[in-house]
Amino acid sequence: MSNALSSSTLRILGIFAHPDDPEFSMGGSAALWADQGHEVYYCIVTDGSAGSNDPNQDLRELVRIREEEQRAAARVLGVREVFFLGYKDGVLEPTLELRRELTRLIRHLKPDRVVCGDPTAFFYGDEYINHADHRAAAEAAVTAVFPSAPTRPIFPELLAEGLEPHQVKELYITADQADHIRSTWTFPPRSNARSKPCAATPVRCRSAMEIGCAIGRQKPAKPPV
Ligand SMILES: [Zn+2]
Repeated sequence: MSNALSSSTLRILGIFAHPDDPEFSMGGSAALWADQGHEVYYCIVTDGSAGSNDPNQDLRELVRIREEEQRAAARVLGVREVFFLGYKDGVLEPTLELRRELTRLIRHLKPDRVVCGDPTAFFYGDEYINHADHRAAAEAAVTAVFPSAPTRPIFPELLAEGLEPHQVKELYITADQADHIRSTWTFPPRSNARSKPCAATPVRCRSAMEIGCAIGRQKPAKPPV
């Protein structure tokens, strides 16, 4: 990875709780942005070890499979690299430790745009109770974008690692419908910055989702993701 991008090339980082979350949250957008020449990266916060209710499932094998699936799905969409933080799946909290790790990644990668879930979303319609890990990852991601990453006195230990403050220019919050961005925040704020749906590339997006769901999910014992 080079830190020298042309002025028209964006570096974009999607931060999500579980392997396969990026595919249903921003898969079409990731493919579109990669096709446009932008650099797209994912950060997956948990290890995906709660992705099966099968009592005979080897959970270490499940972690390995889901990581492999996530990398394969990312390749289909043109995502350059996937960073795995390895937190335990199902019990994620927006801790200072997680916020520090995300701040470290943001200061290292220097993304122009960060995409994450909605930390305020408890329910999606009357069909889905949002997984608590999704909210926790989103809260930590938003807080890492602002104020942690651009504020010098926050996490001074990162300065000691040579990681200077970084201002993300845009924060995109995903919606409950696949491949749409619900809202956008810019730094500094712009009055017309909100609500920017992104077109999907359906075939590749579907292909990536099939990869992301094919191996690590056993029916009928599949819990909600
Ligand atoms: Zn999930």
